[in-house]
Amino acid sequence: MFPTYEEFCLRADTVRRQIAEECVRTRRNPREVELLAVTKTHPPAAAEYAARYGLRAVGENRVQEGVEKRAQTTAAVEWELIGHLQSNKAKLAAARFDRVQSVDSEKLLNHLDRAAADLGRNLRVLLQINAGRDPAKFGAEIEDTPRLLEAALAKPNLRVEGLMTIAPLSSDPDVAQRTFGTLRELRDRLAAQTGAPLRELSMGMSGDLAAAVAAGSTLVRIGTALYGSRENAG
Ligand SMILES: *Cc1c(COP(=O)(O)O)cnc(C)c1O
Repeated sequence: MFPTYEEFCLRADTVRRQIAEECVRTRRNPREVELLAVTKTHPPAAAEYAARYGLRAVGENRVQEGVEKRAQTTAAVEWELIGHLQSNKAKLAAARFDRVQSVDSEKLLNHLDRAAADLGRNLRVLLQINAGRDPAKFGAEIEDTPRLLEAALAKPNLRVEGLMTIAPLSSDPDVAQRTFGTLRELRDRLAAQTGAPLRELSMGMSGDLAAAVAAGSTLVRIGTALYGSRENAG
């Protein structure tokens, strides 16, 4: 059942407390970890809740759904694309999303850069990396990341703000921990090599939030813990 706003607030408070506790434990500043509300499959009210609670942004994993939802609400939030993006939808995504977190190929970089140029805008992006080497996940291979980053940094209409990953689904908590550690080390190494800050590390979902914060996440993408299960929807 979709929650009331009061229920949403209690859940968001709980998530924020979990982030804060993990920050205390790992000596991090809780203000460096942002909560992104994942509104996919939920009604436009989900974005309105997020805005009213004071969150900066919401995440959607499908272009069409995100575009339609955004058109149905005046919620004062930014919209981020967190799901796989096909090149033929790059133009629409560049026009309607404030940031695209799922850039994982040079082809997509080319399409997004051209679309951003046509729109006269600078598009913020994250590079999605398959840091857990999960055959079921999108994202660039770890070995291909330096080249992809180099190409991304050369695009005049894109601003690369960091990296994103999704941990493999596993009952072993070490898997998520290792995946997030890998992304963090990759970021640190590439930032040192290129001089690009790559400040954002988008990692962690409802099931692996603590491991992500411990590994240095700056943006946890949370759906289920805020809005409940997505039942029969994708
Ligand atoms: C759905 C989704 C999330 C949120 O997952 P929950 O387990 O519901 O918190 C986070 N990131 C991506 C890329 C997603 O598609």
